[in-house]
Amino acid sequence: MKKQNDNCLIGMKCPNCGSLGPFNIVVTTTLTVHDDGTDDANGGEWEDENYCQCSDCMHPATVADFSRNITNANYVSELLAFMDVSQEFWDSLIEAQQNDMAAEFEQARKGENLTGLTELQQQVTQHYEGGNYAYIKSVADAEKVGDGLFVFLLNEAGDASDKDEYIAMLITAARQIRTCQKEIEFGGAA
Ligand SMILES: [Zn+2]
Repeated sequence: MKKQNDNCLIGMKCPNCGSLGPFNIVVTTTLTVHDDGTDDANGGEWEDENYCQCSDCMHPATVADFSRNITNANYVSELLAFMDVSQEFWDSLIEAQQNDMAAEFEQARKGENLTGLTELQQQVTQHYEGGNYAYIKSVADAEKVGDGLFVFLLNEAGDASDKDEYIAMLITAARQIRTCQKEIEFGGAA
């Protein structure tokens, strides 16, 4: 039996009865309306503050309330699985965060930044595509490789102040990727 949602309702669960859905969510959508009626309703979109009601117990709340009781770990592991990111990579990100301060201290002590990449960015180069780009020592070099996703992951890692923020960025990106995938694969149908 399904223990959590991992597709359209990823991470969502009724905070009252624990149901995994379906939920009645008030969405924003775009209709192509003709004078004689409507013939096209694109998939709706919703935000955390949108109204959400459980179909089982009729509990009324918001999307955020339905997402609240999912632990970060479950949510992240589902997303990492979706993105085909290995547990090893996830572990390395945690380790990277722990090593960040030590590494920065070490670099400051030597008076130089040896690679131009943060600890998080180094983790990306070591693990992305099985380490094919592990030799990359700067974002400028990464841009020459011509792999947009790699550069994106490096830039996000550079902007993130810590591992948690980076994961949040990846989650946002995964949502956007999923939206694009569904639009292209199913033409927006749920
Ligand atoms: Zn319920």
